[in-house]
Amino acid sequence: MAVLKLYEYPDEVLRQKCERVSVVDDKLRRFLDDMLETMYVDKGCGLAAPQVGVTKRIIVLDDNPSDEDKSARRPMFLINPEIVWRSEETVLFNEGCLSLPDQRAEVERNEKVRVHFVDYNGDEREILADDLLAIILQHEIDHLDGILYIDHLSRLKRTRLLNKLKKYREEKERDKA
Ligand SMILES: [Zn+2]
Repeated sequence: MAVLKLYEYPDEVLRQKCERVSVVDDKLRRFLDDMLETMYVDKGCGLAAPQVGVTKRIIVLDDNPSDEDKSARRPMFLINPEIVWRSEETVLFNEGCLSLPDQRAEVERNEKVRVHFVDYNGDEREILADDLLAIILQHEIDHLDGILYIDHLSRLKRTRLLNKLKKYREEKERDKA
């Protein structure tokens, strides 16, 4: 398995509408494994293909990405995921994103979603998700349409977050020098 290069805001690849996958073969499964490895290494709980520079409708996630107890992990691979139903109830969750390092903000999401997708073996599946899983799914599926969680924030909150990101990157550069 390999750790893939992460693409960060404001890279254009994060703003593309991704293409559907037509074949699930060993080559694709290798890519899925690499995506999952990259997600764990970077301590994320979800990763979408455009975040590693591939504009295909693929996400990987884990709503229990424990480092101490790897047997407790719950990895999921979703190809061509589609939200087919959303609950009316919404929840606020403090989200982060590997493409906007070190930042977090509260985003309003539907509490439950039903998602149709193709799995690791190429089989069609559907899940009804709630809690953290529902939030991760909405965040990651947004990525496949070029949408970032900051797009759900007010202009003021977004500007504030992007300023903090700029500062974080400047400090990181300074530490390197
Ligand atoms: Zn993200």
